[in-house]
Amino acid sequence: MSKRDYYEVLGVNRNATADEIRKAYRKLARKYHPDVNKESDAEDKFKEIKEAYEVLSDDQKRAHYDQFGHTDPSGGFGTGFDGSGFGGGGFGGIEDIFDMFFGGTRRNPFAARQGADLEYRIQIDFKEAVFGTSIELQIPKTETCSTCMGSGAKQGSRAETCNVCHGRGQVEDIKNTPWGKIQHSRTCPACKGEGKVIRDKCPTCAGVGQVKKKRKISVKIPPGIYDGDRLRLRGEGEAGLNGGPPGDLIINVFVKPHEIFTRDGHDIICELPITFGIAALGGEVVVPTLEGKANLKIPSGTQTGSEFRLRGKGIPKSRGVVGDLRVRVRVVTPTQLNEEQREALKQFSRLCGEYIQEQNHSFFDKMRRAFKVD
Ligand SMILES: [Zn+2]
Ligand SMILES: [Zn+2]
Repeated sequence: MSKRDYYEVLGVNRNATADEIRKAYRKLARKYHPDVNKESDAEDKFKEIKEAYEVLSDDQKRAHYDQFGHTDPSGGFGTGFDGSGFGGGGFGGIEDIFDMFFGGTRRNPFAARQGADLEYRIQIDFKEAVFGTSIELQIPKTETCSTCMGSGAKQGSRAETCNVCHGRGQVEDIKNTPWGKIQHSRTCPACKGEGKVIRDKCPTCAGVGQVKKKRKISVKIPPGIYDGDRLRLRGEGEAGLNGGPPGDLIINVFVKPHEIFTRDGHDIICELPITFGIAALGGEVVVPTLEGKANLKIPSGTQTGSEFRLRGKGIPKSRGVVGDLRVRVRVVTPTQLNEEQREALKQFSRLCGEYIQEQNHSFFDKMRRAFKVD
C-alpha cells in the first residue's frame, strides 16, 4: 500500500504555515482518535494523521520530506514509523491531544517537587497565649530516604518514566454520552499516579523514596498570640520529592477562653462585680490579674460600666511595651436580703425620696416630652 502524501492527509497545501498545520491536525485528530471514533478504520486514519503531523510540524523533518518525500534514501526519519505505534505508547493517549486543546502540560515525574505542608492544631490556655510558651509536638512525617536519596531506585539503577501516562500520573477517558463527549481523568493504573516506574526498588524505602519517621519538634509560641493565629515553620513539613525542598509545618493556634478575662488588642478586660455600698461610698477592692492580685481604688459614686485601668498588667506588645488591664465594674443589686438589711434599705430609700429624679432630671424631662405626661 502506497503512503498518502502528508499534506493531503492533513488537507493543507504545501505552503501551509505551522499554525495552519496545527489547526488541521487538531481537527482531524479529534475526529479520528480511536477512543472517540468507533469506525473500523479510525485507528489507521489516526495513525496516518499523527505521522503526518509529526513530520510536518517539525521544520527539519518537513524540509527533509519536501525534498525526498516518502522515498527517503536514509530510510526514514529515525523515529521508527514501523506501524507498531509511536514511542512504545500505542497512539499516545488522547491526553496528548487534550494537552494541546486544553493547554495542559505534561508533568515531569523526575522534576524536584516541594513536599507537602503539614498542618497541626494546638490549643493553649489564655495565660500561655499572653506570656508565650513552648510546646513539644510528636509529628509523624515523611523524610527523604537516605539510602536512595529519594529516587526510590536501588543503587546503580534508576526510575523510568511510565510509558502509559508519559509521566503525568493520570490517564483520560473519553465517554460518548447523549450530551456530548465527557472527559474523565483517572489515576494511571500502570504507575499508580507516580508517573514513573521503578524496576529495582531501594530496599530501605521499598521504592517510595521516603521513609516515615516520628519527629519531636519544639515549637515556640510567642507572647501575645491571638486565637486563630497560624505559625509557619519553614522546612518542617513533609520531605520533597526528587530532591525538592521540604514543605512547611503550619500550626493553627487556638486559645481557650478564660473564665474571667477577655482580650481587646493588647489590653485584658475583666468585669468586676462590686457592691452597691462600695459603688456609692467608694473604697478599695481586690482585682484579679494574670500574675495574681492587685488593689484598685473605687471612687464614690461609681456607676455600672465604669472602667479603670491598671497600667502594664495586660499583654506584652513589643520590647517592654505592655497593654493594660481594664477593669469594668458592675454594681450588683442585692438579692435575698435579711430583715435587718431590708429595713436599712427601706430607710435609705425614704431618705433618698425624690433624689433619683432630681439627679437624673434631664432623662425624666425627655421622658415627659416623649409621652406628653406630667
Ligand atoms: Zn530508598
Ligand atoms: Zn503511568
